[in-house]
Amino acid sequence: MSSIAERLDAVRARIAQAARQAGRDPAEVTLVTVTKTHAAALVAEVVSAGAADVGENRVQEAQAKINALVELHPCVRWHLIGHLQRNKARAAAELFDLVHSVDSLRLAEALARHVAPDQRLPILLQVNVSGEASKEGFDLQGGVANRAALAALLPAVEGVLACPSLEVRGLMTVAPMVPNPEAARPTFRALRELRDELARRFPTATWAELSMGMSDDFAVAISEGATIVRVGRAIFGERE
Ligand SMILES: *Cc1c(COP(=O)(O)O)cnc(C)c1O
Repeated sequence: MSSIAERLDAVRARIAQAARQAGRDPAEVTLVTVTKTHAAALVAEVVSAGAADVGENRVQEAQAKINALVELHPCVRWHLIGHLQRNKARAAAELFDLVHSVDSLRLAEALARHVAPDQRLPILLQVNVSGEASKEGFDLQGGVANRAALAALLPAVEGVLACPSLEVRGLMTVAPMVPNPEAARPTFRALRELRDELARRFPTATWAELSMGMSDDFAVAISEGATIVRVGRAIFGERE
């Protein structure tokens, strides 16, 4: 059984290879190490092995780990990747460096109210482009070809962009669980096409980030333009 550090390095090597195969600079792709369900000691281990970006899907669970790690590892960037309830917006705005899972205008506004006066909170808009009912996110089943859904999405995006304390950086999606990673490609492509469409319509905002791809499909996501991949099991093994 290889160590956490070895598996982290192996994932990094696969990310770099996927980037080069796509004609991209490996430095364009950030690895978020997903530590949900794992104990703070294990998070500390992966951070010591060089993980600079850590992803959690629950505010309370993350808070405990951040408290445990912050003194020894103050430079870790914490990412919220799971669904956020509005009543936890204050804690999320305080704790996280990037919130990937902003999936409604009301949630964005709740977050915006809790950002410190002189600061801006970086966020991504989570979009459900696959149409799977189990997936959170702004609804854009079928991608930009779905003109009715796109027309409904645009005012919400405009509303989020109007929050001065939020800094939109791009989009996030969760692809359907499929046996063959290639089957996730249309989902990743749809997110990139939506990003390009939003960049055309809202050119003064930043749309650089595409958070997509997990343990089984991050190479496909990178070939479709992912700038952030979120990887748990390939580093830590199966979760309980
Ligand atoms: C758990 C989770 C991941 C990581 O998934 P793995 O299959 O463990 O790589 C990525 N993104 C989100 C939103 C998650 O909840």
